[in-house]
Amino acid sequence: MKYPRLEISLPKITHNTKVVVGICRKYGIEVVGVNKVSCGSFEIAQAMVNGGVEIIADSRLENLINIKDINVKKMLLRLPMISAVEEVVEYADISLNSELKTIKKISEIADRKGKVHNVVLMIDVGDLREGIFKEDDVFKIVKEIIKLKGINLLGLGTNLTCFGGVIPTEDNLGKLISLKNKIEDIYNIKLNVLSGGNSSSLHLIQKGQQIPKGINQLRLGTSLILGTIEVTNSIIQGTHRDAFRLIAEIVEIKQKPSKPIGKIVNDAFGNIPVFKDRGIRKRAICAIGKQDIDLNWMKSEDKDIIILGGSSDHLILDITDCNTNYDVGDKIIFILDYVAILKAMTSQYVNKVYLQEG
Ligand SMILES: *Cc1c(COP(=O)(O)O)cnc(C)c1O
Repeated sequence: MKYPRLEISLPKITHNTKVVVGICRKYGIEVVGVNKVSCGSFEIAQAMVNGGVEIIADSRLENLINIKDINVKKMLLRLPMISAVEEVVEYADISLNSELKTIKKISEIADRKGKVHNVVLMIDVGDLREGIFKEDDVFKIVKEIIKLKGINLLGLGTNLTCFGGVIPTEDNLGKLISLKNKIEDIYNIKLNVLSGGNSSSLHLIQKGQQIPKGINQLRLGTSLILGTIEVTNSIIQGTHRDAFRLIAEIVEIKQKPSKPIGKIVNDAFGNIPVFKDRGIRKRAICAIGKQDIDLNWMKSEDKDIIILGGSSDHLILDITDCNTNYDVGDKIIFILDYVAILKAMTSQYVNKVYLQEG
């Protein structure tokens, strides 16, 4: 078997999806399964579909193309590049948009292909990533969109917590609802979808919170694969936290001092490292590094292992306190968080293994 290896439990992803879809259904919210962390994995998209999602979303077109044969609606999350609109119309049923110039191009191409493309207009309610910021501009753009052929204005959406770290609240999501009502009144149209953000919006269905009535869609990635709600640092009851397990092989074990010897300048990544002197410790090196993982977003299944750091291709562990007597060639298991999963999935040096059971 090839190492390092990322084991992905498809039943756990399906299970997590079922749990979250079930919770959201109670609030009248449809779940869009966001698959971008996996680089558009066909297997993971299918696992989410098996868990009950009816739309799969991704930020990259390549990833949507990869899952084109799965019989589910596809949504493009990142605002389309004008240069890629031809493929957007071909491979996405829905896209998130904020620029009239782009939407006009989509219209032109959809009309030529005899298709109708669904547009969710993105509104920036404060996180300052994508979306229309000024209310006046929203009305101006809607007025133009509804004239366009080949375009169905499906609804409004927003994204929070990704750039500015702003959390979703009744207040900022409320803005989306009042905008929808105004647009429906002024233009005498119906907006069917209010897409109220990503996994961070799930904290509004937790105790003492309320998700504003009218929000009827959430686009969820993190919560489906990890079962976590990061805003409140909590775990959704009944979900699995360990659908992704990374297994790396030990290539060296030696007793060494805990402080490097000699004058210290920068490490390989330009930082000046600081080490606590804990005397002589037993250390292990695993054959994986920062090119494949993010050391701040993972922990070992063996709680007694301390991750000391790493370089591009080496992971340095302190195994002094372990009950297991590790040897060179043994494997160490890590549970990954979002950022580490993203890097491991993206690294061609990590062997991905899909588990159909367990
Ligand atoms: C990534 C992304 C999501 C999903 O985010 P999670 O926090 O993983 O649920 C939703 N919407 C947009 C626009 C995104 O880019």
